[in-house]
Amino acid sequence: SFEPLVSDFYDYASLLSDEEQAALARLRAHLETAVKPVVNEHWQSATMPEGIMPGLASTGVFGFAWEETKPFENSAVFRGFVALELARVDASVATLVGVQNGLAMGSISVTGSPEQRAEWLPRMAAGEVVGAFGLTEPLSGSDSAQGLRTVATRDGDEWVLNGSKRWIGNATVSDITVIWAKDAADGQVKGFIVPTSTPGYSATKIQGKQSLRIVQNADITLEDVRVPESLRLQGANSFRDTAKVLRLTRAEVAWAAVGNSIGAYEAALRYAKERVQFGKPIAGHQLIQDLLVKSMGNITASLGMVVRVSQMLDDGTQRDEHSALAKAFTTARMRETVAWCREVLGGNGIVLDYDVARHFADAEALYSYEGTREMNTLIVGRSLTGAAAFV
Ligand code: FAD
Repeated sequence: SFEPLVSDFYDYASLLSDEEQAALARLRAHLETAVKPVVNEHWQSATMPEGIMPGLASTGVFGFAWEETKPFENSAVFRGFVALELARVDASVATLVGVQNGLAMGSISVTGSPEQRAEWLPRMAAGEVVGAFGLTEPLSGSDSAQGLRTVATRDGDEWVLNGSKRWIGNATVSDITVIWAKDAADGQVKGFIVPTSTPGYSATKIQGKQSLRIVQNADITLEDVRVPESLRLQGANSFRDTAKVLRLTRAEVAWAAVGNSIGAYEAALRYAKERVQFGKPIAGHQLIQDLLVKSMGNITASLGMVVRVSQMLDDGTQRDEHSALAKAFTTARMRETVAWCREVLGGNGIVLDYDVARHFADAEALYSYEGTREMNTLIVGRSLTGAAAFV
């Protein structure tokens, strides 16, 4: 049965239906038994636990959001809590899910034709097909709306893709990667489902990452990669369509930021109750309580924000600037929170065994991917002032 988290201080989980709470309880049980025990060793070795994708698929996490695959009617608030539960255990695992479900399946769901959705989404929900999302390039990160160099050239019934991508999550293990490229004819950004076995496609793991070490990120090279027109995402006609996918995934990252903060907070609270200094548990010292209470304030304010942003998605009123503000705000609050929680542990705060160090390091990637704080700030700034300040 579902136990509300003590760190859900205002009990936002009471907004969920019984069915949603039961699904969250099943997910939490899977994470506690199959994932949590192995995350620190895999973080250390920068490897992805074998069988993690089918295991996660068995909890339903890849399919909840999409018409073709959802096991029961559910709310965006529920799906946010799914991201929170994942990141509370490990932000890399939340990211693996976010790439498969949000970025890759989201691209196909939001911009694919009915035939493309029917072909790919059920197999991806089952974890049989692993997906990745290739937008960022070595020379184009924040400016990908206009700066993409990867080119797609139409040749009869086929498209020929040339270029390179960087940072692409899951891409060393993916069966398909959604590649965003500029159409050589009209200069617009289009999306392509590229089977990774296609000649000319190669992916190389990025080494030495010090954040989200379990996620395998890759540099991708595309050399005369040929895909049929049937694999071009039929509803992706310009970057505006790509942005529709990012609006959804940014809100999910905001939820994951709250989860990552909660993971650090829970570890810090546990430690503070056990660690004795000056003759009593440090939890009884005023300045430690200050760190814990400030952390709880950040978590609770952020949770209120992401709950509302998700309700707006269900109401049909969520706009780009709403999810951009949530992403920028909650990831900034997370960065403060994980630092305060690390401080509670003193020296042990930098040792992997105590979990806080992992949440601390992982915060950095969440802060920068899916649009940096600056980019999301500019999206909100444009909305507030009417003036676009990107260039
Ligand atoms: P840059 O764009 O070079 O930015 C560098 C700095 O300059 C940033 O602080 C930025 O905010 C600032 N800056 C840039 N322009 C302006 C401006 N106009 N005004 C003010 N400041 C500005 N991408 C994918 O496509 N697929 C993935 O699966 C994926 N996974 C990722 C996983 C990880 C762990 C990481 C780290 C990244 C991932 N990314 C992925 C890429 C990610 O989205 C980019 O890193 C991000 O968009 C920033 O781009 P950049 O790193 O090239 O930084």
